[in-house]
Amino acid sequence: MRLKHTTVISWSSLYFEIMLLDQSIHQISTLLRQKNLSSVELVTEAYQTIKEINPQINAFITLVEQNLALKQARNVDQNRVKFTSPLAGIPYLLKDSYVTQSLRTTAASAVLQNFIPPYSATVYHRLEDSGAILIGKMNMDAWGHGGSTENTDFKPTKNPYELSRVAGGSSGGPAAALACRLAAFAIGEDTGGSIRNPAAWTNTTGLKVTYGRVSRYGCIAYASSFDTVGPMAKTAADCALVLKAIAGQDPYDATSAVQPVPDYYQKLTQSLKGKTIGIPTDLYGDGLDEPIKTAILKQKKVFQALGLKLVELKMPLLRYGLAVYYLIGLSETSSNLARYDGLRFGQDRHFFTTETMRRIMIGTYALSAGYYDAYYRQAQKGRTLLIREYDQAFTHCDVLLMPVNPISPPKFGELIADPLTNIMADIYTVTQNPVGLPSLAVPCGFTPNQLPIGLQLVGQLFAEDLLLAIGHQYQQVTTWHLQKPQLL
Ligand code: GLN
Repeated sequence: MRLKHTTVISWSSLYFEIMLLDQSIHQISTLLRQKNLSSVELVTEAYQTIKEINPQINAFITLVEQNLALKQARNVDQNRVKFTSPLAGIPYLLKDSYVTQSLRTTAASAVLQNFIPPYSATVYHRLEDSGAILIGKMNMDAWGHGGSTENTDFKPTKNPYELSRVAGGSSGGPAAALACRLAAFAIGEDTGGSIRNPAAWTNTTGLKVTYGRVSRYGCIAYASSFDTVGPMAKTAADCALVLKAIAGQDPYDATSAVQPVPDYYQKLTQSLKGKTIGIPTDLYGDGLDEPIKTAILKQKKVFQALGLKLVELKMPLLRYGLAVYYLIGLSETSSNLARYDGLRFGQDRHFFTTETMRRIMIGTYALSAGYYDAYYRQAQKGRTLLIREYDQAFTHCDVLLMPVNPISPPKFGELIADPLTNIMADIYTVTQNPVGLPSLAVPCGFTPNQLPIGLQLVGQLFAEDLLLAIGHQYQQVTTWHLQKPQLL
């Protein structure tokens, strides 16, 4: 189906038909500043596309009232000079794990089905100050528990590339929506892959930031020592603009980092000469689907052409990643979810899904007397080994090239019905969070049956600028990220 509400834009005497939200944030913001486009037009297009597309993919949990969004858009249009951020007047989406004052926030769980928060997350405030316009709260695996957006109490999100398949998770709603150009960017949350996995499965770009780079204040906690708040968008360049707006220290989050926030957009064009990409060959063995392996390794040539050097290495200790991640992550979630006792927020514990109850029970078990030493403490030692393994790898290279998902998006039911396969699917994305490292997922190909494939570039702490620069320069010479689902 072709969308009917395309707009004719005049640009250097060229006339072409385009979906406004298919353009980059930089392009949109330039048109807005030149008054060749209004935020009202953008927001109107977003709501029209959502009306046509969302019933097919179920990406939203709560849609912001159109009149409210239009009122904000008019305000930005009328006071344009007051807004200096390139995000001013641009529609965006929040994963429903961020609290928003007076706007329902559910974390995709029936426990919080009717929860109206009394305050808003820092990331929301920063975007509000930038003049960005919130359009909706997006579907996800409840509490971040999952990688397919099937563990939601609001019906699964469908993959726009094939509606019988999952969109990934836990930030599946925002990813599917961006693939369909329902907004310009989104804020996801990544505890063990939740930004990168759905980005890779929907042909979009997502950045898991260094732990502490963006304030977690107002982010509903899954595993507090792993949780990160990050941008999801069509391109690395768009992610750079969003990250600049949301990063930085926050007095409300003691774990937010004091490091200055660079101008990530300016640094996109930095020279990559002399930088080295490490390829951990042991990650490209059994269990990785052949088309994914082939697609990723084919990109070596592209990276070399960008001036990057390649080096092969081994990271055998990463095989303990799943055990470390799931023991610590579930221990932390069992503690974090104890507050949902039905007295303070929402409904009682009977409303947790089977998957979430399983996670609380495993975490409680790992933390209980007699088992703590055997499980939790061992996992913390394993975490130290992961830190050392990455430190060691970074003595040979600047970034690491890894797969995001070992498989392409499965059909509904395949993951959720099989908890072990579900866990195995996270194998490449769970080792970075216990170490705190940033990682960028970018599109790099399609399977023979036209399902998106992504790769991830893992960097050293606070090296988001380098990851985004490599991602951007890669996207300047490749076209994968420009492909869109046929649904459009
Ligand atoms: N799929 C992983 C899990 O289920 C990661 C989730 C996340 O990053 N929130 O734990």
